[in-house]
Amino acid sequence: MNSPKLQGAPVLVVGAGIMGAGIAQVAALAGHPVWLHDAREGAAPAALAKLGSSLQALVAKGRMDAATAETGLARISALDALEGAAAAALVVEAIVEQREAKQGLFKRLEDIVGESCILATNTSSISVTAIANGLKHPGRLVGMHFFNPVPLMKLVEVVSGLQTDPALAAAIFDLSKTWGKVPVHARSTPGFIVNRIARPYYAEALALLLEQAATPQLIDACLRGAGFRMGPCELMDLIGHDTNFAVTNSVFEANFYDKRYQPSLVQREMVDGGLFGRKSGRGFYAYPDGVPALPVALHEAPATAREVVVHGSGPIADWLELAATKALEPQGWGPAREPAGAWTGLTIDGAHLVLTDGRTAQQVAQALGQVDVAVFDRPLALPVPPGTALAFSFAPGASTAWREQAQAWLAALGFAPQLLADAPGLVVARTVAMLVNEGADAVLQGVCSTEGADAAMKLGVNYPAGPFEWLAGWSAEGVIGVIEALDHQYRGERYRVSPWLRRRAG
Ligand code: NAD
Repeated sequence: MNSPKLQGAPVLVVGAGIMGAGIAQVAALAGHPVWLHDAREGAAPAALAKLGSSLQALVAKGRMDAATAETGLARISALDALEGAAAAALVVEAIVEQREAKQGLFKRLEDIVGESCILATNTSSISVTAIANGLKHPGRLVGMHFFNPVPLMKLVEVVSGLQTDPALAAAIFDLSKTWGKVPVHARSTPGFIVNRIARPYYAEALALLLEQAATPQLIDACLRGAGFRMGPCELMDLIGHDTNFAVTNSVFEANFYDKRYQPSLVQREMVDGGLFGRKSGRGFYAYPDGVPALPVALHEAPATAREVVVHGSGPIADWLELAATKALEPQGWGPAREPAGAWTGLTIDGAHLVLTDGRTAQQVAQALGQVDVAVFDRPLALPVPPGTALAFSFAPGASTAWREQAQAWLAALGFAPQLLADAPGLVVARTVAMLVNEGADAVLQGVCSTEGADAAMKLGVNYPAGPFEWLAGWSAEGVIGVIEALDHQYRGERYRVSPWLRRRAG
């Protein structure tokens, strides 16, 4: 199939639910005549009426001019029988998430539309290769995976199955741009890009909760502190635990029950109990109140010292030196610098405040042969804004005096320190290491490019950066170190370093 001219050509959207209505709106505003069809009687006209009011609301708020809204809306018509869309150049399917239903629809459509019509599915979890199986022309089926709410979310994953014609995927890629979207090519594999790479964001939080290492508030505060718009617990509450659990299960099952994607008992318990999150009034948090404020600092002793040494090299050590210099300024002296060491952090009168490399504080203390040891989480963006929540933990033998001072020093450096059980990789380091690892495996398997992964995670789930951008500010060795420390602690199959990262570290 040659790359067809699609701009302005008639589009059929099947399924007038939340996604279908959004897709129809975007296509119509981009200048296409659109037919909107739904199997449920009255659903398409109702979706059109709703769309009319939401466009009117945009006009009233001054976000869209009246003429654009009116001409856009006039381009969409509700269609009773699919046969009326024989002239469609593109069909976008957004019906129920069931393979047989989607296959049945596309088989029917092949008898209605012309041979050059592209068939696109908005499936979020079903294999595009599998949906195409049994079609007369399987090469014309492609995934066009939008994100909710469609008019606002910029990302479109353009998903190719085994038989998808590359020219046609390229045409959908180009068309998505004319619809104001940022398309990213993806190979049809479980979860595509976003739903796959995002799994550890939830899984690491649930793992910490399962072993009672932290509260949901603490985990959320630390990841918000790292620049994520929402912490994983509040985000699961928003998505709905039923939905989030179903996606996790589907990725787990589709990967032949690879333990790396194993769902959590914590979440199953919540689903079984009907604690779905916001929509049921109760999840990790109770609604409408939502996330309660974090408890204030445990100790408020002033940070004192006779000698402070900043250890390590690289951007985090440099920033620590600046922050320690600022903290000591009123006392008229500054920190010393020891750039050659094997670890990053500070010694404060001989006690150790160490940036996590994945090992627990207990392991670090044993390796150093010291008792007064605390480890702190990885700051993701530098300079660290004052008051950023940051997890830390103590070696079991740490003295009371050091427990007070470690916290006081983290506060003096500008953090809002959050005490965690002595869990490997704390909160941010383990989560980000696993997101990078998952991104690396996706690239290894040809699911997407590194740039595609970065764009998809920033636009599809609003991450503050993409996995390969984090990697650029860290190192393959550092990420591997955290994952191996997790593996050493848990001895499962979840913490398996991607060969792509090993080659990068090579
Ligand atoms: P929805 O339940 O809001 O809408 C689905 C619509 O399809 C309903 O109106 C239903 O009557 C209609 N329908 C069902 N079977 C049909 C058939 N055989 N022919 C015609 N119409 C039929 O669902 P949704 O959230 O809009 O999801 C639609 C698709 O988009 C699913 O494949 C889903 O996985 C995918 N998706 C959803 C989201 C999301 O956040 N909701 C995000 C990305 C992708």
